[in-house]
Amino acid sequence: MAAELWRVAGVLAAALVVGAAVGHVLLALWLATLAYLGAHLWSLARVRRWLADGRGIYPPPAWGLWDELLELIFRLRQRSRSRKRRLAGLLERFRDAAAAMPDAAVVLRDTGEIEWLNEAAARLLGLRAPQDFGRRIHNLVRHPAFVRYLEGGEWAEPVEIPSPVDDAVQLSVQLIVYGDNQRLLIARDVTRLKKLEAMRRDFVANVSHELRTPVTVLVGYLEALEEDETCARRWSRPLALMREQAARMRRIVDDLLMLSRLETEDAAHRPRLREAVDVPALLARIVAEARALSGPRRHRISLDAEQGLGLLGNESELASAFSNLVVNAVQYTPEGGEIRVRWWHDAAGAHLAVSDTGIGIAPEHIPRLTERFYRVDVARSRATGGTGLGLAIVKHVLARHEATLSVESVQGQGSTFRCDFPPERIARPDAAGDGRRGAGGG
Ligand code: ADP
Repeated sequence: MAAELWRVAGVLAAALVVGAAVGHVLLALWLATLAYLGAHLWSLARVRRWLADGRGIYPPPAWGLWDELLELIFRLRQRSRSRKRRLAGLLERFRDAAAAMPDAAVVLRDTGEIEWLNEAAARLLGLRAPQDFGRRIHNLVRHPAFVRYLEGGEWAEPVEIPSPVDDAVQLSVQLIVYGDNQRLLIARDVTRLKKLEAMRRDFVANVSHELRTPVTVLVGYLEALEEDETCARRWSRPLALMREQAARMRRIVDDLLMLSRLETEDAAHRPRLREAVDVPALLARIVAEARALSGPRRHRISLDAEQGLGLLGNESELASAFSNLVVNAVQYTPEGGEIRVRWWHDAAGAHLAVSDTGIGIAPEHIPRLTERFYRVDVARSRATGGTGLGLAIVKHVLARHEATLSVESVQGQGSTFRCDFPPERIARPDAAGDGRRGAGGG
């Protein structure tokens, strides 16, 4: 910049000298200024052409300040070019990686039009690139469950559909929202997994089925032997133990059979779960059984059920689920404790709560209670005749009734197991009973 100022000063001084020599100082100064300005304008025009043209990499030759300026612009351009090249390379590598993925990946606009897809998407979903770019995926993959999933807006969990290309291939499809309302659809081939799952299910079902008759026969004969007066006395204790364990085996087999039936029917279409169940009557029966089970342990068991509030569902499944909760409350509550069973409805739906003042459950166990054979205290569960399958059954039954199970518990103080049914499940076999509340004594 200083050089430029010296240059201006030089031009003006030369004009002064020449002007003084010829006797036209002002005219000389004016002409010199004009020439200086003209030279700048000319350079400016060249720079503009070079920038607008964009073809020539190297700047045109220039003088003074322009040379510096062009050099700076040139360097900036070089830097942005190499950055662009790097980014393009990176993008290319990402695309290659996505294309090579074994899972199908489809990039969608928020309205569902396809923007990009990889090879696996072509193979698994029958989409074509680039012919299908810009077309809505709803029109190309038309499975009703898939369309419902896309339009439902709940994408935290995947949906399973058969592949549109091959019915025998099962896909697990999930939509992921990222960036600026962009969507990524991922589809995985889960055929093998499904087959293994079905094999495991069949195996458990077959084994339990095969075991059921032998175990029933054993229990029957053991019971008969125990009651047999002619049997030697020294056998009475071993016989009682044998009968107890055989009965436990039968309960496990029964629970396993029930679970595998629930699972198989889950996998196929849900059975008719639409009979109206009189829940207050069902609960009254369960509570009566619980009092009998409590026997000398004298729990205070109360039932507070909204009369006339029924459920659309399967009575024997609901009976098994509710009974499991109430029986657990009795088994895990010390003598004389209190157990409350409540059944009511509000705007959110119908609710069952089974509370006890029992041993409670430490927080780290709560999320795992519904796993098969999960028991906080294995010895205690065995001693009370538990199978570790009760809550797994509860969870399955509730899922089939679109209901959820929640557990609140404080160790040493007690637990509340709560089932929440959606309002659509409420049935009122006796419309006149709406809203009346009745309480069974405790
Ligand atoms: P189990 O046949 O062993 O009772 P469940 O599946 O019914 O099996 O329950 C799993 C575990 O959850 C039980 O072993 C027990 O540790 C715990 N549990 C269930 N209900 C209660 C309760 N009301 N109070 C305390 N612990 C409970």
